[in-house]
Amino acid sequence: MLHHLSIKELIASLTEKKLSSEELFSYYQERIQKYNPELNAFISVNESFLDKDSMIGTKLKGIPIAHKDIFCMKGHLTTCGSKMLANFKSPYDATIIARLASAGALTLGKTNMDEFAMGSSNETSFFGPCKNPWNLKLVPGGSSGGSASAVAARLAPIATATDTGGSIRQPAAFCGVTGLKPTYGMISRFGMIAFASSLDQAGFIAPSAEDIAIFYDLASGYDPKDSTSINDQVTYTTKNLDHKPNALTIGIAKSSLDKHADPHILNAIKQTVNQFEKMGAKIIEIDLKNSQLNVPTYYIIAPAEASSNLSRFDGVRYGHRSEESQSLQSLYANTRSEGFGDEVKRRILLGSYVLSAGFYDAYYIKALRVRRLIANDYKEAFKKVDLILSPTTPNLPFAIGEKSNDPISMYHNDAYTIGANLAGLPAISFPIGFHNGLPIGGHFVAQHLREDLLLNTVNLFQKETDFHQQMPQEFDR
Ligand code: GLN
Repeated sequence: MLHHLSIKELIASLTEKKLSSEELFSYYQERIQKYNPELNAFISVNESFLDKDSMIGTKLKGIPIAHKDIFCMKGHLTTCGSKMLANFKSPYDATIIARLASAGALTLGKTNMDEFAMGSSNETSFFGPCKNPWNLKLVPGGSSGGSASAVAARLAPIATATDTGGSIRQPAAFCGVTGLKPTYGMISRFGMIAFASSLDQAGFIAPSAEDIAIFYDLASGYDPKDSTSINDQVTYTTKNLDHKPNALTIGIAKSSLDKHADPHILNAIKQTVNQFEKMGAKIIEIDLKNSQLNVPTYYIIAPAEASSNLSRFDGVRYGHRSEESQSLQSLYANTRSEGFGDEVKRRILLGSYVLSAGFYDAYYIKALRVRRLIANDYKEAFKKVDLILSPTTPNLPFAIGEKSNDPISMYHNDAYTIGANLAGLPAISFPIGFHNGLPIGGHFVAQHLREDLLLNTVNLFQKETDFHQQMPQEFDR
């Protein structure tokens, strides 16, 4: 079955002309038609195959991809999961979309997500919750829940996603797939609708590290259109993917094992440690002493930046506009009251508050200081270790509706993932086991620009294990 093939195998079949790009595209479109009504993983679908075979880029040869609906795509709906942009068609392409298209990727559609990427369950989407293919009553995680669900059910061989505090890795863990959040600045943010600009990072979700490496190498690298894009040598991750490192030291923070994590998840981490020891790695204990401050620090900085970024949605230039208004003031107020959902409003209120004159020093400036302490802890740790291992999430996928009235408990889903965003470090989530038929994710953080080591290490792990190859039976037809 075509949906069992890796990206590498698909490229080989396309190159040897055993398969045409049109056949492959239709195959995935049929899967989307068949399964998306149950999953709600796509907000819009790009049904037409543009038969410009001679124009299809030579590197990817027509591999289909799904894009998170946060990336602007010329002439296509780009909703960001919000009523505010429900009818917005972008006049230009995000850099990641343009680069992949010119390398030969064909867009299958745009995936569901939490509104403006705010959430951990995909329930804040204006287009309704996306479902977890392992159990349709459960959330797929968020905010890139649509991308993770689509890949887990193999409605796409790979998908783009974004991560501000965990939105690539947490849904990847909940859906039993692999998700890479690169170093801040490694993939251009141009054309990616901003949530919290100092934390936002684009990346990929796919079944394996090998699949991601192929796309990461094509999408990453300097972009003059993004002022925070890293202008540095790109390490081609595909080069050393199978290379066995001489000595690998993995650190585990004690704090990460007593964060009230589910015992089944901790047990899977133990097995993973054994596996890496068997593969020759050395495991040592490290101290990330400020890690208990990750969640509170993030929930000052991210809303502060969001409140500023989202001020552009005012009904004047684009997006939803209220019909009800008599004055400019009421146009702003009505447009924003109607266009934004509750979680987005909560973040704007919180962000405006922590940036307001009387509270700026007490909250925002203090959070920036703590952010520095958190980053320094990682710096210290990386003097002793190459990678830091933890669970991706403290809990297994939860039921739709279970946490929607409890924002604080929802925010704690990202307890393990947020640190990498605050420090700008690359990180990956990868499948390490199952409990009661539900997937469990393991999480590595590496030093800046070491996505090659992340992908290499997870690739070697995936050569020894088959968790990443398993898929929900119901969708394996
Ligand atoms: N769950 C976190 C939040 O709600 C992270 C979201 C993200 O990474 N985009 O802000």
